Formats: sequence, C-alpha cells, structure tokens
Amino acid sequence: MRTIPALIAGEEVTTGTTFTVVDPSTGTPFAEATRCGTAQVDDAVEAARSAFGFVRGRSAEWRAGVLRQLAALIRRDADRLADLECQDVGKPLRQARTDVAVTARYFDYYAGILQALHGDTLPQADGMVAFTRREPFGVTAHITPWNYPLQMTARTLAPALAAGNCCVLKPAEDTPVTAVEIARLALEAGFPPGMLNVVPGFGPEAGAALAGHPGIDHISFTGSRPVGTAIAQAAAANVVPVVLELGGKSPNIVFEDADLGHAVPLIVSAIIQNCGQTCSAGSRVLVHESVHGKLVAAVRERFEALRIGPGAQDPDLGPLISDRQRARVASLVEQGRREAVLVTGGDVPDDERLHGGFFYRPTLFDHVPATAAVAQEEIFGPVLSVTPFRDDTEAVALANGTEYGLVAAVWTRDIGRAHRLADEVCAGQVFVNTYGAAGGVELPFGGWKRSGYGREKGFEGLLGYTQTKTVVIGVR
Ligand code: ADP
Repeated sequence: MRTIPALIAGEEVTTGTTFTVVDPSTGTPFAEATRCGTAQVDDAVEAARSAFGFVRGRSAEWRAGVLRQLAALIRRDADRLADLECQDVGKPLRQARTDVAVTARYFDYYAGILQALHGDTLPQADGMVAFTRREPFGVTAHITPWNYPLQMTARTLAPALAAGNCCVLKPAEDTPVTAVEIARLALEAGFPPGMLNVVPGFGPEAGAALAGHPGIDHISFTGSRPVGTAIAQAAAANVVPVVLELGGKSPNIVFEDADLGHAVPLIVSAIIQNCGQTCSAGSRVLVHESVHGKLVAAVRERFEALRIGPGAQDPDLGPLISDRQRARVASLVEQGRREAVLVTGGDVPDDERLHGGFFYRPTLFDHVPATAAVAQEEIFGPVLSVTPFRDDTEAVALANGTEYGLVAAVWTRDIGRAHRLADEVCAGQVFVNTYGAAGGVELPFGGWKRSGYGREKGFEGLLGYTQTKTVVIGVR
C-alpha cells in the first residue's frame, strides 16, 4: 500500500504513526498517511521561517520562475495526479483531470500577475516622498478540506507563494495524497527546502497545532463553520489575519423568461459536480411558479438518467467521501421527507456492484418551505431543493433567506432584471445565465454573511497575502 510522508524542510518525514486513507468508490484502504502532531508542525513552521529568510532575498522574477516550473511539472504528471485524485476523492476521472488542469493554471496565473504587484507613490508635502510596498507576511498556514484537494492546495498556496510567503499546509485527513505530490513536485521545480511544507494529520491534532502556532503570520482555512470559528479564535489569540471560506447554500433563481433548455443541464451539473460536495454547489432552485412544474420534470428526468459508479469508470456521479458523510446526507434527507415532497432519490443505489462504496442517489425535493432544513443547511451531497416563487421580491427574499452568501445565479432574458438581482442578492459571486466558471482562477471568490470573509482567487487573492508598508522619506 502507498505510504504518504510529511514533507518538511525538503525532506520526506514519517513519524511511526499513520492513519488509513480509504478509496470511497470501494470503501477499501489505499494508502497509509503519516500522522503529524505538534512536533512536526513545530519543525514545519521553523523550516518555513528559515526558508523565508532565503526567499525574501530573491526577486519577483525568481518566484515567477519556480511557480511556472511547478505548473509545467503538474502538467507533465497530469495523468498520474488525476488518477490519484480520482481514487482519493472518488470523483469522476474527467472531473479529476479538470482539477489537475485548474491546479496548474493557478500556479501559472499567479506567476504571471505577481510581477504586477507593486505599491503606490502618494502625494505629500514638499520635501517628502511617500510610497507603499506590498510585502509578504512571512509564514502562512493553510488548512484545506477534502472535496477538491488539488484545487484547494493550489488556490491557497499559489497566491501566498507568489506574494513571497513560505507555507505550511495541513491537508484534510480524508484526502492527503495529492498535496504531498505537489510538495514533491515543488522541490523538483526548484523551490528551496522549507518554502512549502505539508503536514498530513487530524484536524484537532496537526490542524489545531498549526492554527494556534505562535510562529505563523497568516491563516487560510476552507471547511466547516464550527472549525472555521475555532480557527478564527486561534488567529485572534495570536493576532494574525485569517481568510475563512465556510461554504454556502447557493440558489439558482429561475424566472419565467429563462431559457430552460440552456438552464436545466447547468442547474443539474451545479449540484451533481463532485457529488454535491462543493462549497459553491447550486443546492437550491428558486423558480417562478409559471415554469415550476416544467423545471421539476426536466431536472427529475436528468437525475434519473445519471450514471452512478466508481470514479475510475468516469461516471456522472461518484460516491460521497465517507460513510460518515453519507450518514449526514441521509439524516438531512430523512428530515427533508418530513418537510417537503421527495420527487426522486433519497436512498442508496440498489446495485450490488456499488456495494462497498459510499454512493447516494441524486435526490430532488420539491415544494420545499424556506425554513426547511434542506433549504437552510449545507448538505454537501447530491440533494437539490426546489421552492417556487410568485414575483421578483419574493425571489430575492428567498435567495437571501439563509445564513450563507457564497454564490447565486439568475436565469432570465431580461437584462434589467439581471442587473437588479445582481445588485440585490447577497453573495460573493453572482452568475447570470450560467453557473460557475471552470475553476474561476481569475475571479475573486469568497463569502458574504456566514459563508466567511476574505477573498481568494484573482488579483484580490494575491493582495490578501501581502501587508502594506508605507515608507516616507524626507528629501531635504
Ligand atoms: P468537514 O466537516 O467537511 O470535514 P472540517 O471543517 O472538519 O470539514 O475540515 C476542514 C479542515 O479543517 C480539515 O483539514 C480538517 O482536518 C481541519 N480541522 C478539523 N478540525 C480542526 C481543528 N480543530 N483545528 C484545525 N483544523 C481542523
């Protein structure tokens, strides 16, 4: 079986203690990962600090060069990385291949824009010159979830490294495999030892040790709200900035003038992608009452035609990440049965070949009251809730009626309505007549309300990994 080491100061490290990584398509173990604790986190932070002394003396062009080289190596190893990601997460192979391509793009994109990172000169009284510098924080900590291990690794590391920081990453315990592969490729790309360290392990052990470490200068976290709150508290205790991305309950808002033929396939893929285990999943449909019946029938037909299977067979829908996650989905679906109308799904597929994996059928609820759990809670599974509305005012109220505010989409041919809705909906990203943006590397992404704060992706993501220094020089 494959063994996954930690990568600290350029060395592959094992601790003698491991945890088992399971293939969710079969339920069988496929790797043993090194279980890091406080000692390894201390070593990783120290290694990053020491590497920072070296990296801060290098030019922006040097940083761009190593990041570009890393992107090239990811592309060279694309098939191998996609196979590993497919096995680790259970996601359909073509999705894993897309994830690899987006991962490479993150490093290329930030390699490109980092050389456009500059300060300003500021008007001052005669005899003074004032300017700002955009400087890295130093050592940045990154705690990632299990749903898109490669993309999340790149999304958080690429801007941090581009800005000149040195990093310690704690990947999710369910999916530690590919983050370590990226750290290996980074060494091959010419990263000095310690510029990127990866410490696999459990959240309350390695994760908590990293978040509360006095030697870190910034934290980036994507995951659940309770853990995000704990991480923000740890950050507050050390007075370090934190970026939190805590998921959503994102609506597709479908008006009577929408092109349903175009909308329905995208509405289905917005909840089916990665088996619904996507922060920005379109998990609610709000639909005008005049097209409600037609839309539900079309979604149902597509849901029932989806091919379910192991990731490696490249189905439409792979398994959930774990039995624990499947139990959580099932329990919310049970609650949904009491609160709304179950149209299709709501159980495990009746197929012996899928027996060992953590599969769940795509599930559609209709007539979901705004207050129902399936309309309010992030389920992180292939469960879509539909709620009809009468007019624009009600649509906006429903869209904004959860604690979250990550993504929303508006489907209409009326350009005025599209602008009004984009204005009135509380979300970090609003799409019109489309959903998602194939990774959206260039587009600032992050939450309103309880979906979190801070932005990743785009130029704003790069700025977030810098601190401003203002320099004033008397020239008399
Ligand atoms: P999920 O419930 O979807 O697994 P979590 O928020 O628990 O999401 O996990 C996201 C990441 O946070 C994972 O890398 C996990 O190991 C880490 N984590 C979990 N608990 C803690 C904690 N107490 N402190 C720091 N990190 C944690």
